[in-house]
Amino acid sequence: MHRRWRLTVLVPALLLAAAVVVSTQAQFSDAVRAFIKVDARVVALANVRVIDGTGAPARAGQTIVIKGGSISEMGDAARVHAPEGATVLDLAGRTVIPGLVMVHEHLYYPTGPGVYGQLGESFVRLYLAGGVTTMRTAGNMNGFMDFKLKTLIDSGQRAGPAIDATAPYLNGPNTFSQLRELKGPDDARRQVAYWADEGATSFKAYMNIRRDELGAAIEEAHKRGLKITGHLCSVTYAEAADLGIDNLEHGFLAATDFVADKQPDVCPGQGRGQQSIATLDENGEPFKRLVKKLIDRHVALTSTLTVFETFTPGRPVPPGLDVLLPALKEEFLQRHARTAANAQSVYVKLFPKDLALERAFVKAGGLLIAGTDPTGGGGVVPGYANQRQLELLVEEGFTPLEAISIGTLNGAKYLGREAKIGTIAVGKQADLVVVNGDPSTNISDVRNVETVFKQGVGFDPAKLIESVKGKAGLW
Ligand SMILES: [Zn+2]
Repeated sequence: MHRRWRLTVLVPALLLAAAVVVSTQAQFSDAVRAFIKVDARVVALANVRVIDGTGAPARAGQTIVIKGGSISEMGDAARVHAPEGATVLDLAGRTVIPGLVMVHEHLYYPTGPGVYGQLGESFVRLYLAGGVTTMRTAGNMNGFMDFKLKTLIDSGQRAGPAIDATAPYLNGPNTFSQLRELKGPDDARRQVAYWADEGATSFKAYMNIRRDELGAAIEEAHKRGLKITGHLCSVTYAEAADLGIDNLEHGFLAATDFVADKQPDVCPGQGRGQQSIATLDENGEPFKRLVKKLIDRHVALTSTLTVFETFTPGRPVPPGLDVLLPALKEEFLQRHARTAANAQSVYVKLFPKDLALERAFVKAGGLLIAGTDPTGGGGVVPGYANQRQLELLVEEGFTPLEAISIGTLNGAKYLGREAKIGTIAVGKQADLVVVNGDPSTNISDVRNVETVFKQGVGFDPAKLIESVKGKAGLW
């Protein structure tokens, strides 16, 4: 949990140190203040359509009153009036949805062959501009960056979402220059303990981890009340569920459960795993058995359709490329053209299969959460991609209201924070996204973000984006 922020009168440092009572409110730096467009003691959002994130139908003509960073009152405009002295925003034609809670985010990006640039400074602004008010990073190539940015955001020194920060990847033998290799279960335990002490609130196992190491990491994380997810390959989904993992990334596209001659603790190669998934029958017994196991063991599944879309021929150019360093944008566009020309790509079958398998998982009662994964071959741009992920969930077969719920409430549930965030209700934190239009009938209206309220403070997405335009790639 972090403290509520609000602009306060400057208090001399000495006094701050002594007076614990008045120091509970952090201040925004001038740099952050430049991105703020609404900051008042009481704010009323009037005449607005509300999509509350629970999946309930949109309600038109509502008023939401924000006080002390939380929602103090809401309802029909005829009944709920703006309090005396409130800053009133007339939001006719606009819709408010809960701030997005997305769980496969990163503060790094592929900037060269096997190189991941640390773009946290630009990415946290882009995430917030896109309507993300809470995010979990899902693996870290930055050492301390995820944790430090989290504390800088919490204290008002950076603009960005609340961050559930992950430790560096827990991986076995690998050839990434930025990834460590675990040396066995004791080492796995030691890594989890070390990074938890440093501020990690989440862990991510990666493709070459061995079962004993994963088991040890899970045990140590759970001992500390922390969760662990995985992008697996050497360990199957079923094995990981039996070991107690909390979450699995990338829908079913990282499952090696259906590779015929899968050797224990060995990744058969991502390609072989994906071939086995591309031909998997979502109505067949083997898949249903796996789904049942995941649900019985309360394993959540993260949908990251945005990154897979960039691998799939025939898909549109993803949104937001203009914020990238021009060289990175150009490189991605060339890659996109090569992808489009590759009719033999496994993704021709695999991408629609991923949609069908995720859908089947939800139909069976599984908890689907959403993220974007700004890695792969580039082109997944924070903020823009979070909106795209909602569109893709609708393509997957969910209604716009269900898609919004997956991108808000489900993420909050997974993080165990649904009492505070993920829906719009009296008493909840005022994490709200104002969009022009009505995403309950046209999901793409989530792209028209006008203001992002985080704990009652309204940020200007245009200014946040402008500040990084053409630079995401440098910092
Ligand atoms: Zn990832």
